[in-house]
Amino acid sequence: MKVKFWGVRGSIPTPLPPEAVRSKITTVVQRIRPADLESPAAREFFLSRLPPWLFGTAGGNTSCIEVELQPGSVVLFDGGSGLREFSAQLVHRNPRPTRFHLFFSHFHYDHLQGIPFFAPLGDPRVSVDFYSPEEGLKEKIEGQMLTPYFPVTFAMVTQAKTAFHRLGAEPLPLDGGRIFWKRMNHPGGCFAYKVSDGTNSVIYATDSELTEKDFEKSPENREFFENADALILDSQYTLGEAVEKYNWGHSSFSLGVDFAAEWNIRNLYLFHHEPLYNDRKLHNNLQSARWYYSHLGKSGLNIFLAEEGRELEF
Ligand SMILES: [Zn+2]
Ligand SMILES: [Zn+2]
Repeated sequence: MKVKFWGVRGSIPTPLPPEAVRSKITTVVQRIRPADLESPAAREFFLSRLPPWLFGTAGGNTSCIEVELQPGSVVLFDGGSGLREFSAQLVHRNPRPTRFHLFFSHFHYDHLQGIPFFAPLGDPRVSVDFYSPEEGLKEKIEGQMLTPYFPVTFAMVTQAKTAFHRLGAEPLPLDGGRIFWKRMNHPGGCFAYKVSDGTNSVIYATDSELTEKDFEKSPENREFFENADALILDSQYTLGEAVEKYNWGHSSFSLGVDFAAEWNIRNLYLFHHEPLYNDRKLHNNLQSARWYYSHLGKSGLNIFLAEEGRELEF
């Protein structure tokens, strides 16, 4: 299956400020030596050696993850502002997908605010299915597009064939795979999802303050977490902040590493980045997470930063 990050930031969209752009350019220019400009190959080599926090950005859009199990059909997790970026690039896809399945972790605004800009809703040739384990899904989606919060209603923009599904306890068969869900600890509740294509599995667990219950070796936890190929996990805080912000509903990257190691996960993607953190701080956290893991005396876990535009294949 293919996975792509369209929005990785937590809480609120966080565009790169002008000062950060100037600072990145200034730092790059200071690093250039005459030899780096001698040929196109030398320039490419110079750029390839720049650290990722300098030559790029983790991205400022809020939660949205795309998964492709079958060509022509798209599975999306959350409709944060990254959903607008996803919509904008659809015109370049050939063939264009005709079936869209949107699963919601919960309805905090950073996971919903891209819905009014979700272009497929206006296309009568496509179908859009919405899913959540919670009741009242249709009202929750429509409710954010009412006067005075938005100029047009959901009904006014929608020409696609839409359906709203409340998920039952059994995994949902979809596009040749299966979708599982699990309730996580977050103010007002939040749901993690797991996509399995029969061979590989990817877990999306945003907005989760991990507790000892999540580490318990219960049959439910084993079925959901154990041996997953990838875990996209809320890692908004440092350990110090997680102590300070107890009960705010988010986890530290170090607890995330413990958790991924405990469940024998192969690839951990730190996700739902703190809006206060710049690229350098996020990459420092990534290095700290890797350093922490190297001292656990375990092996087999790769740790990455979830970055906007990044594509994965499992
Ligand atoms: Zn959130
Ligand atoms: Zn939330």
